[in-house]
Amino acid sequence: MSAPAATETAVARWLAAAGSATVLTGAGISTESGIPDFRGPQGVWTRDPAAQALSTIDAYLADPEVRRRAWQARLASPIWRATPNPGHHALAALERTGRLAAIVTQNIDGLHQAAGSSADRVIEIHGTAHWARCLSCPGRTPMPEVLARVAAGEPDPACPACGGIQKSATISFGETLEVDVLRAADAAARRCDLFLAIGTSLSVFPAAGLCDHAVAAGARLVIVNAEPTPYDPAADAVLREPIGQLLPRLVAAASGVDGQ
Ligand SMILES: [Zn+2]
Repeated sequence: MSAPAATETAVARWLAAAGSATVLTGAGISTESGIPDFRGPQGVWTRDPAAQALSTIDAYLADPEVRRRAWQARLASPIWRATPNPGHHALAALERTGRLAAIVTQNIDGLHQAAGSSADRVIEIHGTAHWARCLSCPGRTPMPEVLARVAAGEPDPACPACGGIQKSATISFGETLEVDVLRAADAAARRCDLFLAIGTSLSVFPAAGLCDHAVAAGARLVIVNAEPTPYDPAADAVLREPIGQLLPRLVAAASGVDGQ
């Protein structure tokens, strides 16, 4: 491997000196909160490709049985029991230092906001599991309200406004990402001087391409991930420590606070 040799100490120094840091987070930051990684080596989709059909828009629209199973999967999701871990809390602390431009996240679990990150600084490029949206009208409903109907016995709760098919307000396979959300993520990547990619395999576009935009705009690129990524050779530093241990140390060091 030709991973750069910059150390944790150097990254903490860069973070302390950063005028504006943008963070990209992926599944790896939430596995420590008990939410499985869908795409990783032990991922749900990797081990059971049939489970991926539940997240494919064409199958979802065409087949009531796929929708029934998708609603049962949402009802049983570990997201509802998950709480933020020290990695999420460290990023909320980073925002309080005034150095955080934005958190662009591939996660749909809402754990950054639960940890105290400002909702207007969290850019959820794959949407959120905390809302349901109608596929026929602009209607959105808090997910707990829809799941209560599923728990009460409705297999496929219809939109209360128009009777249309509902799904979680997340991006399924076969759906395009929302243009204004992507634009915000892109702008956040281009205006930072430090770009931290945390817990993401950087294998899914356009999220991975944000690294290119940040580097092209002159930012340092730091990757924190257990597994190698295609962007490791382009990074100024690659750190492999567990996220929930590393991020609190980095943010504390960058804040001039000893220990934690
Ligand atoms: Zn509707």
